[in-house]
Amino acid sequence: MKTAGRLPSIHLLVEDPQLQPAVQHWGRPAVVAAARKTIELARSTKAFHQQRDELISAIKKELAERKKPYRKVINATGVVLHTNLGRAPLAHAVTEALIDAAGYCDLETDLTSGERASRLRDVEPLLAQLTTAEAGFVVNNNAAAVLLAVAGLAGKKPTAISRGHLVEIGGGFRLPTIIEASGSPLLEIGTTNRTHLHDYEEAIKKGAGLILLVHRSNFVMTGYVAEPPIKEIVSLAKQHQIPIVLDLGSGALIPTQPFGLPHEMLVQDAVQADFDAICFSGDKLMGGPQAGFLLGKRRTIDVLRKHPLARALRCDKIQLAAVIATLQLYQRQEALSQIPIWQMLATPGDQLRQRAERWKNVLGQGDVVVAQDTVGGGTLPDASVSSVALALDFRPAEILQKRLRLENPAIVTHIENDRVYVHPRTVAVVDDDVLVMGLRRALLAQE
Ligand SMILES: *Cc1c(COP(=O)(O)O)cnc(C)c1O
Repeated sequence: MKTAGRLPSIHLLVEDPQLQPAVQHWGRPAVVAAARKTIELARSTKAFHQQRDELISAIKKELAERKKPYRKVINATGVVLHTNLGRAPLAHAVTEALIDAAGYCDLETDLTSGERASRLRDVEPLLAQLTTAEAGFVVNNNAAAVLLAVAGLAGKKPTAISRGHLVEIGGGFRLPTIIEASGSPLLEIGTTNRTHLHDYEEAIKKGAGLILLVHRSNFVMTGYVAEPPIKEIVSLAKQHQIPIVLDLGSGALIPTQPFGLPHEMLVQDAVQADFDAICFSGDKLMGGPQAGFLLGKRRTIDVLRKHPLARALRCDKIQLAAVIATLQLYQRQEALSQIPIWQMLATPGDQLRQRAERWKNVLGQGDVVVAQDTVGGGTLPDASVSSVALALDFRPAEILQKRLRLENPAIVTHIENDRVYVHPRTVAVVDDDVLVMGLRRALLAQE
């Protein structure tokens, strides 16, 4: 027997005396909308025999949630930098810095002299100290950093780029389109799999105004491939006095191999390679907020800093507060212990297993299984770290997955072999109890 009929009508629910204060406070249309959403959710997750009181408290919760711009998510996917879940979660110290910056702050004031000061005054010395770069600049994200570098250094002259470096960076955006948007025509050289030094030489003869190299941060290429060593391309560019820029992508400041991951070129090493500028993201392997860094020669960075686009692409105070606080954690050697992505990647397997076992015991169901976690966020493609997950049986698995997504906080999982996998690595330890409660509710709301 189908039991869909047991759910009350939206109209009857809204009339319930318990909801009248909410009708007063939010207005009737808002309460009707919340009731509709709650009933639809109950139907779509086959939770047909929910009690009236449960439905009413779900409606109240739904109304209270309307105040929040985004809902909190417990990331149980095992993907550390989950692009759709906001990439890198911020460190506690970084979150506090955001709150301090939210009100009036000395963003562009030197409180000692009372004079106007640069909002980036603290960023550059930090970057120089951490990476040995001569100069540094920060914009809204790495796509903006690439755009600014090309616009500022190539001007209207073509940008030479290997066909093997013409990447799509996610969200449907492609590097070639970003380059063209800067006003510099693309000068594609070489082939997808093989580009040689003479290809770069010919590009220079054809009048290239800039050479752009793109580090393969989000895909791997193997087989019949060839590329000149970075050193040779840089020295060719210097010989012809053509600016050369590296889009590094991930921006790792600490080595990835100790975490069982492949080697990722470090920002410090890229700086040593003597590019005019390198650019990378703040919210990938740096583990900070969305931001785009440009590091390089003083002369080059000064040109970019004064470009009109620099003003259009600049960071706001909240973003900068998070950037500075994140860099300070690296400076104080606290990155490994304080920055969530490194804490997650460093968690030993037996600790993950213990947590998954505890979840299993509290729930009284599921299996602790071997699983793979990934870095994600368009970094370290193909790489995974061996891990564990709690595998839950529920048919159909998609229904349980949806119920979990609609928990509060939302719980995002993944499905493997028709089972819902809950990965401990990406779940903050402080969220363990809320997670287990959410799992229990979703499992119990049986058909
Ligand atoms: C991720 C990535 C970008 C884009 O960076 P955002 O900070 O997301 O704008 C550009 N280039 C490469 C190589 C990347 O990996």
